[in-house]
Amino acid sequence: MRVRKDINSANLEHNLKMIKKLSKNSEIMAVVKADAYGHNIKKMTTLLSQLNVNHFAVATLSEALIVRQLNKNASILILGYVDISDLNIVKENDLCLTLIDYEYAKMVSVAQVVVKAQIKVNTGMNRAGENFDNYDKIKCMYNLPFINTIGIYSHLGASDSLKEDDTIYTKLQIERYDNLLRCLKADQIDVGITHIQASYGLLNYPNLSYDFVRIGIILYGLLSSGEHEVLSKVSLKPVLSLKSKIVSIKEIKANARVSYSNSFISKRTMKVATVSIGYADGISRSLSNSNFQVLINDKLCSVVGNICMDQFCVDVSHLSNVSLFDDVILFDDNYTIYHMSKCAQTIVNDTLSSLNIRE
Ligand SMILES: *Cc1c(COP(=O)(O)O)cnc(C)c1O
Repeated sequence: MRVRKDINSANLEHNLKMIKKLSKNSEIMAVVKADAYGHNIKKMTTLLSQLNVNHFAVATLSEALIVRQLNKNASILILGYVDISDLNIVKENDLCLTLIDYEYAKMVSVAQVVVKAQIKVNTGMNRAGENFDNYDKIKCMYNLPFINTIGIYSHLGASDSLKEDDTIYTKLQIERYDNLLRCLKADQIDVGITHIQASYGLLNYPNLSYDFVRIGIILYGLLSSGEHEVLSKVSLKPVLSLKSKIVSIKEIKANARVSYSNSFISKRTMKVATVSIGYADGISRSLSNSNFQVLINDKLCSVVGNICMDQFCVDVSHLSNVSLFDDVILFDDNYTIYHMSKCAQTIVNDTLSSLNIRE
């Protein structure tokens, strides 16, 4: 294989155990959108189901159908938009729709397909959800014909930050959500299940207690950035490792060009190795000529030149023993994906979900 993606199921089990301990009475909803953050949605759904996880969240209908095929009993929440023309598929597969606002909820109701749904409330992130202060509309969403509303949830926009301003804003979002729930209950409405925390909501606001926590990134043993401070210091172990191999080694003289566009010109004689993975596999082209390094025989080796579609080059001049087909570690348990994400000037979630490995 030109590239190897390994899943460490013991690490997954470890993370799940840590998350359970922290979330106390809240149930875990495993977020497996974007091919389970690049880990392989089928593999992760199977492993999580074996670990007795029975609640899943995904972004799209197509993802929900993959989870349903592997787990007939799971509750599956689709967090994102689903086309009205697909409501029959939602119904037939017993999936749960998100009512992303009042306008959408009305369209769903008019379609006259009996579906399970949860109301999304916008408490301040202003992306999706009916506005928290449109009380009458939210109340009305519970009573729309053909919709079986089983819950109401919101999402925090900056729970990953411990800065004072952001903490104040997150607490305001939580307060808006709580107030809304209180009013609905006072109006004799059975609100159904409640949830507002994703990974950072759990780590930084561990004392909240809703029915569910929607956990993505920390399930995979990672934070979004290696530089994030969090309130709850839980031990996390990365689940995914990515390896490629050296497929060619050559000596180049000073003033030689490496890779596309002459973007790297050698200053001295060098030994350069070609690695069989590229940007089409999800190794960001923005890593070209960056500080990005890979591990070869336990030694760090720097990228040289532009990352190409299917391969890239690294400097192995300093390695005394390097051979054709040696392993090239892009990230693993110890040499984490934090480095690669930082060099690509993005977050781990982006690096992971961009993976599109062609073995
Ligand atoms: C992606 C997503 C999550 C999971 O977020 P993590 O930070 O990875 O835990 C939770 N809720 C919603 C609405 C999401 O879109």
